[in-house]
Amino acid sequence: MEITELSLRHTNRLVEDLVHARLNTVDYFDYQITNNDVYEKRMNDLKNRTFAREELSDYLLSYHRKHFPENHAVTENIERLKQPDSLVVVGGQQAGLLTGPLYTIHKIISILVLSKQQEAKLSVPVIPIFWVAGEDHDFAEINHLFVSQNQVIKKKAIKHTQSEKIPVFHKELDQKECWNWICSVFETFGETDYSNTLMESLKQTLSTSKTYTQFFEKLTYEMFSEYGLVIMNSADPDLRKMESPFFQQFIRKNEEMSEALEAQQEFMSSAGYQPIIVTEKTSANLFYHHENHERSLLHRSKDKTYSVEDKLTFTEEELRHLAEQCPERLSNNVVTRPLMQECMLPTLAFIAGPGELTYWAELKKVFQVMDLKMPPVVPRLNITILERSIETDMMDVEIGIEDVFTRGVEKAREEWVSKREPSRMSPKIEDTKKQFEQIHRELRESALTIDKSLEPFLMKNAYFIQAQLDLLNSHIDKKIQQKHRVEMEKFTRIGKSLKPNDGFQERTWNIYYYLNKYGPNFLDEIVQLRYSFNNHHKIVKI
Ligand code: ADP
Repeated sequence: MEITELSLRHTNRLVEDLVHARLNTVDYFDYQITNNDVYEKRMNDLKNRTFAREELSDYLLSYHRKHFPENHAVTENIERLKQPDSLVVVGGQQAGLLTGPLYTIHKIISILVLSKQQEAKLSVPVIPIFWVAGEDHDFAEINHLFVSQNQVIKKKAIKHTQSEKIPVFHKELDQKECWNWICSVFETFGETDYSNTLMESLKQTLSTSKTYTQFFEKLTYEMFSEYGLVIMNSADPDLRKMESPFFQQFIRKNEEMSEALEAQQEFMSSAGYQPIIVTEKTSANLFYHHENHERSLLHRSKDKTYSVEDKLTFTEEELRHLAEQCPERLSNNVVTRPLMQECMLPTLAFIAGPGELTYWAELKKVFQVMDLKMPPVVPRLNITILERSIETDMMDVEIGIEDVFTRGVEKAREEWVSKREPSRMSPKIEDTKKQFEQIHRELRESALTIDKSLEPFLMKNAYFIQAQLDLLNSHIDKKIQQKHRVEMEKFTRIGKSLKPNDGFQERTWNIYYYLNKYGPNFLDEIVQLRYSFNNHHKIVKI
């Protein structure tokens, strides 16, 4: 395996401006990630803070003992959290089926790489933590994979009938249904020497998983525990006990938080960046959890009472009492989750996807209200896996990797055909269509002087003539495609592998396709490559 880099434009303008130091960073973030000393500075700032390290470490140890087999690297990392100078690199994601799109894997690799690099540089323990967004209830986001079936990219979703409002953490998984779904996914991958072992191992893990998040966490743990990755689930009731004092602070400063969010969003809009957090001004930015595990957003009234869908009402004091006595009845939303993370963990850096980066920028003033500094928010690594067979296809049809992302595969294909078929008919037919239209227009004008009621017939007649020429064009095009069928298929394969669904590979494809094709060492080899956080797109040739 080898790694090369490409400098590509980010489609998200805020990210693009941030990584090129064009953003007036202080307006959005507390640290300038393009500064060389950003992590030293952050480390020094954190020296003035205290964290419930013992409690956190004990909690994580018991969580891991409960859910995963013992792994020395992970246990040691959790123990190291007790050291007063230890730091963490953290990032999170929803619990996608079979670990979801590749970008989840890339995010975890980013966490591992940055923590390792900074531990060596700062000479203090830097622990990689991955939190699973278990309190999310958007099942539609995690219930599927994309596969290539009968030449087309298809979404393969799993059926599930439980209430939509239940966080994924509590969504029980039907093991039989899930196993059938896995089999149908693997069928599209095709059988290899690795398929049996891989599927057996998945079957085993599935048989010990009661919920979708458990299945996700166990698979993630199997893949990354040897690198010491610590897993947290933000929906775990025991974790929420530790969050209790911070919930109480969020309630105390609730109105100021909403005002700060609104002010920052207005500021961002006026600077030309589109905010993405959608929230009402009355939102308390906290969820209330009902007995049946459904959750509802709490709303704040002018008199500082809090209500849940007109069913329940709390005074501020009652809500703080709830936060103190039964914190598992509350959870964080998009606004309070980042704050909670900052209250709980000595975060050296937060690894963010492009969407997260934007919504964190919306929180700058909210962090201020809570007297917190936002940690360095670092864009995760962008990776494209370039398979050897695809690279060979690219050489055969003379398209470079940069071309794939800038010019696009379709444009390259058109140009390739134009070069091979200089007497291509398309331009000539286009020209003929124009000439016919001109002549036909003259005919129409004359005919209309005879009888105006002819107009609909004339227009239809013109349309048929043009349509016949289009038909001729597509017929000839088909012949060209057939003549160059082998090359056309190469273009299709290249597009499918590197720009599926017209986006980056990491947004569509899943790691299991590659594990099935290249074997169990595939992931380790990718993790162990040398990465630099320079915001260039990484091309990993395999
Ligand atoms: P083939 O497998 O015969 O090459 P496909 O049309 O199924 O034809 O796929 C074309 C290419 O797209 C594959 O060679 C592979 O590089 C990529 N591809 C297909 N399916 C997947 C998948 N599920 N995950 C990742 N890459 C895929």
